[in-house]
Amino acid sequence: MVMTRGLFVGRFQPFHLGHLYVVKKLLESVDELIIAIGSAQYSHTFRDPFNAGERIWMIRSALDADLDPRRYYVIPVPDVNDNRVWVAHVASYTPPFQIVFSNNSLVKVLFQEAGYDVQSLPLYKRELYCATEIRKKIVANENWEHLVPEKVAKIIKEIGGDRRLREIVKKDYNYHDTNNDHKFIHQL
Ligand code: NAD
Repeated sequence: MVMTRGLFVGRFQPFHLGHLYVVKKLLESVDELIIAIGSAQYSHTFRDPFNAGERIWMIRSALDADLDPRRYYVIPVPDVNDNRVWVAHVASYTPPFQIVFSNNSLVKVLFQEAGYDVQSLPLYKRELYCATEIRKKIVANENWEHLVPEKVAKIIKEIGGDRRLREIVKKDYNYHDTNNDHKFIHQL
């Protein structure tokens, strides 16, 4: 029997319970899954606060409890400033794959045009599990821990990721007025 291998690309900033649901679902339809960590060269910004190694650690810790580690790969892939070559660039970091899973329209278009079978992801409580909203909650000092796997919350705290995010936002946006936190966070 021919083995199928799928590709799931994301920034995973951070890896949340929606991503975890998707990985488990996808592993019901493929033999192996490549989880490609996009924008791997970025860290310490509001959009991409965690570096590639931290994200690999979070994802592996979240998956190892439930899934056979021989069935998935976690591979960091830096961005390239040229969409025309990105698909070949991704493939140059990974074992061969036949199916690409994404809801990101640019990712879908690029892989479709390169001839891959591209399938949409099953959305899981998107109103709740959304990385941008989780980062905003961290910055706002609201409860966020229940939105990510327990191990991920533990790692974020262990590396001081919550504090990092709050500090970055002040630096990124040259923000000093702590009396106006709430209004500011909604502009991010
Ligand atoms: P992301 O971490 O925001 O999301 C990953 C995937 O999970 C997305 O398809 C998203 O729709 C899905 N998802 C999120 N919440 C979900 C939920 N609750 N239920 C189900 N699915 C959910 O990552 P992203 O920004 O889509 O990652 C794309 C990566 O590809 C980026 O790193 C981007 O830079 C990279 N990229 C690079 C180039 C280039 O370098 N030229 C071109 C295209 C894409």
